[in-house]
Amino acid sequence: MSENTQMRREIPILDLFSQYSEIGQETEAAVLTVLRSQQYILGPAVKELEKELAAYCNTAYAIGCASGSDAILLALMASDVDEGDEVITTPYTFFATAGSIARLGATPVFVDIEADTFNINVSEIEARISAKTKAILPVHLFGQCADMDEINALAAGHQIAVIEDAAQAIGAEYQGRRAGSLGKVAAFSFYPSKNLGGAGDGGLLTTDDAQLAEKLFALRTHGAKRKYFHDYVGLNSRLDSLQAAILRVKLSYLDGWSDKRRKNAETYGRLFTATDLVERGVVQLPVLREERRHVFNQYVILVDRRDELKDWLKAQGIGTEIYYPLSLHEQVCFQYLGYKTGDFPVSESAAQRSLAIPIYPELNDEDQRYIVSMMQEFYNR
Ligand SMILES: *Cc1c(COP(=O)(O)O)cnc(C)c1O
Repeated sequence: MSENTQMRREIPILDLFSQYSEIGQETEAAVLTVLRSQQYILGPAVKELEKELAAYCNTAYAIGCASGSDAILLALMASDVDEGDEVITTPYTFFATAGSIARLGATPVFVDIEADTFNINVSEIEARISAKTKAILPVHLFGQCADMDEINALAAGHQIAVIEDAAQAIGAEYQGRRAGSLGKVAAFSFYPSKNLGGAGDGGLLTTDDAQLAEKLFALRTHGAKRKYFHDYVGLNSRLDSLQAAILRVKLSYLDGWSDKRRKNAETYGRLFTATDLVERGVVQLPVLREERRHVFNQYVILVDRRDELKDWLKAQGIGTEIYYPLSLHEQVCFQYLGYKTGDFPVSESAAQRSLAIPIYPELNDEDQRYIVSMMQEFYNR
């Protein structure tokens, strides 16, 4: 046996049980308050959460909705994205980013990602802007903001909208400004694995634009500003009061949790650097850009023999995840777009080599030492 061998540990990719043991009582009380109020639809808990999250993101408005996917859809609808329009985004993201564009009959136009941050490569955007381009939809992937100054400058030059997919980036910052306040409108998700996760689905939009906010409030309730009087064909996409009450409890912990994720990322940096894995080039660590606060919704490394490593770590009790195993331009449902393998080499390579390892706030130093030493053992075998 190698000298690295330690006592076996069980470490999931995300441990919501630990989180619940910290906030369970408070959460249950908040849920009971909603039940006893019988105000389930857009009740006081939703309004309070919207107020708190607008303040948190430093925007004038926040609008709750049913999911992060709906938030993207609503942002596109409010920006008048329609059949025949084009929206620029990356093929290396959760499906909803491009799926929402396609659902409106618009065309997702892909731009490859940067090899080190996984975010859209801004130097390749301009070439893809056409007369049909209605919006750029950058994703702040894994919790680090995209190059928003460059994206906003490009968009302003061509008079197109910038919509942030901030689903993984609540609390992330770019030059001291919060994700959600960096474009015209932004979409957040409260899917349970997000840094601010509910007990089910939920989403939110943020914007500084009063007119756009008014339209979004209407669009989430079938386009009605006044009940039964419909200005737009919208959808039923509201944030439940029960979710809002739970999210309000969690919001007070969010910055503490994000700080722990950031500290865990630093610890990984130290631990991996003390091995020879980075030097040998078998492991590549996440890259932090200057003047950004990365909130590490995921800690994603690029590794050699990814699938083999994943199985090996699983056998050692360590949970990992692959974000994302197939780029969007290679998905069956997007074959009609006419892309082929090889069109986005950085994305395709990341899909082969990326591995998310545990980064959740409750992860401790021994857990991290175990994970890194098991990886060392794998590559030394
Ligand atoms: C989670 C996520 C979404 C969608 O959110 P849901 O709430 O699951 O609908 C969209 N984009 C990205 C990048 C995400 O990670």
